[in-house]
Amino acid sequence: MPTGSPIVAQTHRHFIDGQWVASADGRTVPTQAPATGELLGHLARGGSAEIDRAVTAARAALDGPWGRMTPTERGRLLMKLAQRVSDEAERLSWIEANDTGKPITVARNDLQALVRYFEFYGGAADKIHGHTIPFLAGYDVKLVREPHGVTGHIIPWNYPAQMFGRTIAPALAMGNATVLKPSEEACLSCLEMAQLAHEVGFPPGSINIVTGIGPEAGAALSGHRGIDFITFTGSPQAGELVQAAAAKNYVPVVLELGGKSPQVVFADADLEKAATTVVKAITQNTGQTCSAGSRVLVERSIFDSFMQRVNDKFRALRIGTPEQDPDLGPVINARQAERVLRYIEENAGTGVPVMVQTPMPATLPAGGHFVPPTVFGPVDPASRLAQEEVFGPVLAAIPFDDEEDAVRIANGTEYGLVASVWTRDGDRQARIAKRIKTGQMFINCYGAGGGIELPFGGTKRSGHGREKGFIALEEMSTVKTVVHHHG
Ligand code: NAD
Repeated sequence: MPTGSPIVAQTHRHFIDGQWVASADGRTVPTQAPATGELLGHLARGGSAEIDRAVTAARAALDGPWGRMTPTERGRLLMKLAQRVSDEAERLSWIEANDTGKPITVARNDLQALVRYFEFYGGAADKIHGHTIPFLAGYDVKLVREPHGVTGHIIPWNYPAQMFGRTIAPALAMGNATVLKPSEEACLSCLEMAQLAHEVGFPPGSINIVTGIGPEAGAALSGHRGIDFITFTGSPQAGELVQAAAAKNYVPVVLELGGKSPQVVFADADLEKAATTVVKAITQNTGQTCSAGSRVLVERSIFDSFMQRVNDKFRALRIGTPEQDPDLGPVINARQAERVLRYIEENAGTGVPVMVQTPMPATLPAGGHFVPPTVFGPVDPASRLAQEEVFGPVLAAIPFDDEEDAVRIANGTEYGLVASVWTRDGDRQARIAKRIKTGQMFINCYGAGGGIELPFGGTKRSGHGREKGFIALEEMSTVKTVVHHHG
């Protein structure tokens, strides 16, 4: 086990109704450290029985102390949890780093983001107001914001701690009772959060976590008739299944899916700043970020010189284990490593030019799932490499001729999550920002999802609905129209 790791291999349980419980049938699923392949423990493998229990507990919480709390009381509780996470951030950062393979600095940043989610939504809990509507004589009409009720949350493995904050904090701030199905690949920080939430005073049933695999626990949650609202973050394939299951129960869904986000670089940009950001945007979290900048579109006149800068930076990247605190860690598991390597080999094998491949250190642990960061270019914008999400540190470089061409290529995938444009021309900045179909648009910067304050979500196959920012509180609530005839 890496230095500093507090984790010992153990069997973890579900957190339901304020209690740690095993699956009814005792089944478990193993979880391992991506950097070494070592066993980190066993997760309880939940199914419809555990989901049913969790939904029942959540429903009861709405009728109990949790449902009776005022927004101010809920906000204070969220703030208390933020403080507790902050106090334990170092311990939790190591858990996150070992569970996901992230460099420890990245895990520490993720934990600070988790703290910020609970601070932000704790502060916002009592600042969501309704409206009044002028109507007929003798009437008062008010619009009241209410929680959906029991909310289901399905999250992936790439940022378990951040995802917990992003989806659970606003749901709790609005007074929902939550059931989380985290990823079977990495979720130990989420389980820690359940314990800390319990210790700071979240009433039983307000936060429930059922671990297990997608087609079992995930499918049971998305198809449960007792759920009032679902957020799903993950692959488009699973997202489609979740949406279809929820549709049968008329349950609204927020889908946060994948991306093939373009970074568009014009010749008049600050090229050094752009190159540094382009590299970070695709290598952050080893490319396993939905909003990774996986396509760089470069004005043809500077294609070679700009890509030279990018390639030099790629060559210098450090790859290693969490405690070595490199630029990139491993990918999550053997399956993901095979998938990324297959993309690299297939494209290199069919003649797509490899511009650079970062050398891999000889000292990496044999059981770790490491892949070489790779830049391909020039890449045909219609090719699979330019169209499909690799979810690894693989960058497709594409030349463009003019603004029209840049917009066409940027919009020419099924996705629309994040985009950036690099240019000093203000008119062009405005035109491009308007024309690219995307959930977030960055000008001379790149946010990979941006801060907690910034609404985030997709268009097209990247999904629909928004998380983060105040808008998440609207998503996590519904509006009741109250019409009062007083004569
Ligand atoms: P995944 O879809 O395989 O799994 C995500 C979650 O869904 C997991 O908890 C999994 O157990 C569950 N799941 C799987 N099958 C399910 C089913 N049939 N019913 C219900 N739940 C099911 O995705 P992943 O491999 O964990 O994550 C990678 C994908 O997630 C990428 O496509 C990435 O772009 C996307 N992602 C998107 C965002 C975003 O905010 N847009 C953020 C992170 C990841």
